[in-house]
Amino acid sequence: NNQVAPPVSARIPDYACQRHTPLQHHNTKFTDALEILEKYADLRYDDQDYSRALAFRRASCVLKSLSRPLSRLSEIQNVTHIGSHSQKVIQEILEDGTSEEVEKICADPWFQKMKLFTAIFGIGPARAKEFIAKGWSSIQEVRDGCTSSDWRIQWGLAFHEDLTTPVTRAEADYILGVVRRHVDRVLPGAVMELTGGFRRGKQTGHDVDILIMHPLENKIIGALPRLLQSLQSHDIVLCGRHERSTYHEELLTQNTKLSPRGQLDHFEKWIGIIKVPNKIRIKNDQSDKTSSHQLGNNKCNTDMKENKDKCENRNFQSDKNTDSCKRDVGNESVLYQRQEDTLDSGSAISDSLEDVWESLDKASSSSSPSHGNPREVKASQGDWIARRVDLIISPFSQFFYALVGWTGSKQFNRDARTYAEREMNMKLSSHGLYDFNQGKQLVASSEREVFDNLKLPYFEPQDRNC
Ligand code: ATP
Ligand code: MN
Ligand code: MN
Repeated sequence: NNQVAPPVSARIPDYACQRHTPLQHHNTKFTDALEILEKYADLRYDDQDYSRALAFRRASCVLKSLSRPLSRLSEIQNVTHIGSHSQKVIQEILEDGTSEEVEKICADPWFQKMKLFTAIFGIGPARAKEFIAKGWSSIQEVRDGCTSSDWRIQWGLAFHEDLTTPVTRAEADYILGVVRRHVDRVLPGAVMELTGGFRRGKQTGHDVDILIMHPLENKIIGALPRLLQSLQSHDIVLCGRHERSTYHEELLTQNTKLSPRGQLDHFEKWIGIIKVPNKIRIKNDQSDKTSSHQLGNNKCNTDMKENKDKCENRNFQSDKNTDSCKRDVGNESVLYQRQEDTLDSGSAISDSLEDVWESLDKASSSSSPSHGNPREVKASQGDWIARRVDLIISPFSQFFYALVGWTGSKQFNRDARTYAEREMNMKLSSHGLYDFNQGKQLVASSEREVFDNLKLPYFEPQDRNC
């Protein structure tokens, strides 16, 4: 049979945000290799030349969006995003099944050490290179020799094994459930969304990203410090750092350069580590059973099935005039409406907001923003595992842009922002969309409207896995 499949190149749009990119695709043998080259370029050339790494990422992204396995190079020869280096590697794999260059990189001790060290929470390529220069090649050598006072590195080293054990979907749902309970106490009526890789359908992740919003714009003021106090008083938090919002409206139009490793936004957020009972991870495949978990002195019943259902993809509709936010779950519409603030006086939550801010700021500026020394906490670790959590709080008016930004993937965001700038004369960020043609901000009251405003077809989170 001499029939040649038509070239796929004609149908491939330029930007990843214009293409379906599912989690499961047909070209992993190529994309795995290209992503090793990306990682290597990223670690080798980091700050000076990220374009090399990006070139491999773009090529890999295109292959992920193909609806069938690539069988000959001619099918993609004219695709702009697949450069000559990537083509060479693809050709090699088509012919021999493997790429010699990639094999060499994988066997390179420098690369192995860099991957090992940059997997430590708080360690970037620059510091990893310092460790290698000192002659270290194991985590234990870093533990023995590293004198950094950075809280992330100290906790990252003490809990390295925990933090490099993939977080399961069941754990993410559990964490969402726990946070929801505390959010309901300190910020009734808030809407929460599990974002990041889990929202894109991944079964495991390196952390749990949770976006929080309240339909009433001003309600979120002080909510995150109260939430953290509530979590801390139940002995759930290991350590973390609270960051105040640095947002101001001029940022909407300012042309700030996108940082190579995921763009920074200006939301108030908390980056930290919490404890999750071991049984949650172990019971992963029975996650539809109702279970009850003992947390500190308080009994916390988490209905895993309910959480799971709530985490299915859904669309929001919101209405600023009625202080409500409608969410579609399947055929059902759930209306989120403002509730009376009912902080119970018996809780350990401080009445004075400034006190809360102060104590949190003090905690996060010290080297170990938590109770105790990381190594000692590790030595007396109970039946729980340490998990990385990001809590982000967004004003209602920015929520759907924040949702798109925090759902990712990073490459999806990168391309969506480049597309907005080059094709639409707009500026997209996690805070909003500014249209330079009209000289105004474009509001969105659903995720779909974010895409509409950009004149992009809508893609579900599970199709944004570029
Ligand atoms: P994993 O499953 O490994 O956690 P992930 O896709 O969830 O992968 P994260 O690093 O947790 O990756 O980031 C989640 C999303 O939030 C990404 O789309 C990323 O661009 C965005 N993001 C992460 N950190 C920041 C930050 N500091 N500021 C703004 N956006 C961020
Ligand atoms: Mn994540
Ligand atoms: Mn994260």
